[in-house]
Amino acid sequence: MSPAIVVFTRDLRVRDHPALIAACEAQHVVPLFVLDDALVSGLHVCANRLQFLIQSLADLDVSLRERGAALVVRRGRWVDEVARVVRDCGGDTVHLSDDVSGYANARHDRLRMVGARQGFAVITHPGVTVVPPGAVLTGSGTTYLMFTPFYRRWNDAVWRNPVPAPKRLSLPAGIDLGSVPTLAALTDITPSPELPAGGELAGLARMRTWTSDGLAGYAEAHNDVAADMTSHCSPYLHFGCLSPLEVATRLRDRAGGVAFVRQLCWRDFFHHLLAARPELTRRDLRARGIPSGTEDEAFAAWCEGQTGYPLVDAGMRQLQREGFIHNRVRMVVASFLTKDLDVPWQLGARHFMSLLVDGDLANNQLNWQWAAGTGTDTNPHRIFNPTRQSERFDPDGIYIRRYVTELADLDTAMIHNPPDLERTQRGYPPKLIDHAEAIAHYRTRTAANVSN
Ligand SMILES: Cc1cc2nc3c(=O)[nH]c(=O)nc-3n(C[C@H](O)[C@H](O)[C@H](O)COP(=O)(O)OP(=O)(O)OC[C@H]3O[C@@H](n4cnc5c(N)ncnc54)[C@H](O)[C@@H]3O)c2cc1C
Repeated sequence: MSPAIVVFTRDLRVRDHPALIAACEAQHVVPLFVLDDALVSGLHVCANRLQFLIQSLADLDVSLRERGAALVVRRGRWVDEVARVVRDCGGDTVHLSDDVSGYANARHDRLRMVGARQGFAVITHPGVTVVPPGAVLTGSGTTYLMFTPFYRRWNDAVWRNPVPAPKRLSLPAGIDLGSVPTLAALTDITPSPELPAGGELAGLARMRTWTSDGLAGYAEAHNDVAADMTSHCSPYLHFGCLSPLEVATRLRDRAGGVAFVRQLCWRDFFHHLLAARPELTRRDLRARGIPSGTEDEAFAAWCEGQTGYPLVDAGMRQLQREGFIHNRVRMVVASFLTKDLDVPWQLGARHFMSLLVDGDLANNQLNWQWAAGTGTDTNPHRIFNPTRQSERFDPDGIYIRRYVTELADLDTAMIHNPPDLERTQRGYPPKLIDHAEAIAHYRTRTAANVSN
C-alpha cells in the first residue's frame, strides 16, 4: 500500500485534524511541512510569526514522535517540494486542510495540476474554520456581507464532530526528515521581546487556564482593556495549534460560552467572506473615497506610538512589545489612522501584519476594512474618539501606564489627555492633530463619496 502524505499548513496540531485522520487510513503516513519560500522570505516577513511558527513545528514534531512518526520538513517552492516528497516516497495521495486566501487556493490548484501529471490525488479537508466556507449562505445562495444574519445561520448550521488525535502513526522507511530551522536561518529581524510560546501544547494550556479564569466573565470584561481578560488564543487559532471547531464545541454550552463563541463566529465570517472574495485583501468592499494620507511623518508617528493620544500610543507600543493589541484598542488605533489621519487602511493593515503574532489575512484585512468604513460595518461612519474610548475602557489609565511609561505616574485625571506642561516635562509628544478638526474633514471628504 502506498504511503499517504499529510501536508500541514496552518493546522499545526494532532487533535481534531481531519486531513491527518484521513491519511491514517494508509499503512504509512508522511507528515510534511514545507516552509514556502514565498512566505518565509521577502519584504513582508514577520519575525514574530516566524518564531511562533518554528515553536509550533517543534511541538508538532514532538507530538508526532510520541505516536511513532516525526515531522518531515522541507524548504523551497511549496508545490515543487510537496510533489518531490510524494515522488520520493512513492505516495499516491496528498491530504491537506482547505484554506481561504487566494494564495492558498492557487497553491492547492497548482498541486492538483502537478498531481494529475505525476499520478497522485490531492484531497482537501475541513479544519481551519468552525463551519467550512460556502456552508453558510443567504437564502439566495450568496455570501453574507453582514455579520448578524450570518451569525444566526452559522449557529443553526450542523457542525461536524471533532475527530480524536491518532494513537499511532508509522512513517515509511528511509525518508529524510530534514529539520525545523532556527529563526536566524530565516530572518535577521529581531522578534518582539514578549511573545507567547507557539505550539498545540501551549495553546491547550492557555485555553485551559483561560476557560477556568476568564470564560464566565467574558461578556462583561472583554472590553476592559486594562484587565486584559480576553483569551489570547488568536495566534493558536491562526496557526491551527487549536481547532476552532473543538474550542467552539467545548465552550458553547458553558457559562460565558455564548459571548465567546460569537467572537469565533466573527473569525468564521471573515474567513468565509475572504474565501468568496479573495480580492478583499487589497480592495475595498464598499469604496468611500480615496484617503489622501501616505507613508508620511504622521503615519510614522502612529507606527511608533507617538501620536500624543495616550490610548492610541499605548496600543501601538503594545504591538511592538508583544506582537498583540487588545481588540478594543485595535479598533481605536485603526479608526484613528484611517479617519483622523486620513491614511488608507491598507498601510495600517500592512504594519499590523509586520508585527502581529496572530496576523491573519482574513481577520486583519477585513477588520481593517470594518474600521475604515469600507467593509462590513453596518455603520460605516462610526468614529472612535480616542480620548473618550480611553476614559471609558481604561478609566484609571492602567493600560496606558503599562505601555506609555513616560506617563506612568501621571494623575488619573490627566492621563487621558495630559496638559501641555506635563507632556513637555515628560518627553511625551503634543497631539499630532486635533480630533474634532480631523473628523470634520473626514465627514466632508466622505459625504461626497458614499456609495453603498
Ligand atoms: C484593525 C483590526 C485588526 C485585526 N487583526 C487581526 C488579525 O490579524 N488576526 C486575528 O486573529 N484577529 C484580528 N483582529 C480581531 C481581534 O482583535 C483579535 O482576534 C483579538 O483581539 C484576539 O485576542 P483574543 O484571542 O484574546 O480574543 P478573544 O476576545 O478571546 O476572542 C476569541 C477569538 O475570537 C476571534 N475574534 C475575536 N474578535 C474577532 C474579530 N473582530 N474578528 C475576527 N475574529 C475575532 C479570534 O480568533 C479570537 O482569538 C483584528 C481586529 C481589528 C479591529
